[in-house]
Amino acid sequence: MGLEEITRRVAAAEAAAGRAAGSVQLIAVSKVQPAERVEAVLRAGHRLFGENYVQEAQGKWPAWRAGFPGVAVHMIGPLQSNKAKIAVELFEAIHTLDRPSLATKLAHLAQARGASPELFIQVNTGSEPQKAGVLPEGVDAFVAEARGMDLPVVGLMCIPPEGEDPAPHFAALAAMAARNGLTGLSMGMSSDFEAAIAAGATHVRVGSAIFGARDYGPRAG
Ligand SMILES: *Cc1c(COP(=O)(O)O)cnc(C)c1O
Repeated sequence: MGLEEITRRVAAAEAAAGRAAGSVQLIAVSKVQPAERVEAVLRAGHRLFGENYVQEAQGKWPAWRAGFPGVAVHMIGPLQSNKAKIAVELFEAIHTLDRPSLATKLAHLAQARGASPELFIQVNTGSEPQKAGVLPEGVDAFVAEARGMDLPVVGLMCIPPEGEDPAPHFAALAAMAARNGLTGLSMGMSSDFEAAIAAGATHVRVGSAIFGARDYGPRAG
């Protein structure tokens, strides 16, 4: 696979869905990947990346931003409130706004800075107990609450349950976004980004299909 093939498949999926070329943003998920793999993708001209861990991103991206103008990095992992201040300075977008206390924190930071990353609200479309995200029945109220804090909510994000057909989850997320007047849809990963594009994804988050398998090393056990 690799960047070139995934870029080509994104374009093919856009065309197959009757969507405009370039309407889907490919987020290259670079968490835990060796520097040389990320640098190869940067040298190939790709500029949009996703990270899961604030500290890891903080260590890697300042130097790459300096070396490769135009880089944007999106936070796609769970965000602890005590890392929110660093996160708003580090990322162009945060895809994992999932609770009122984090919204309040981000609103205070936005007021202090006069700027905020774009925000996606994460929805737990499968209502899985162990998974982050607002439950489907709470989405409309939470979107309104975040908007009431003047936060720049641009869309919804989901991670469908493992081992299930993701398509109904993508369709459900698209319906929730539409009824709330939100145009951003962050959905689809290495194994299912084409189905997500068919369902209206505007941002697909693809890691291993671009960079190869992640090696978490001894930490993963
Ligand atoms: C790691 C991760 C991805 C990328 O997963 P791949 O299967 O490697 O494409 C996408 N989204 C989120 C939220 C992730 O944590």
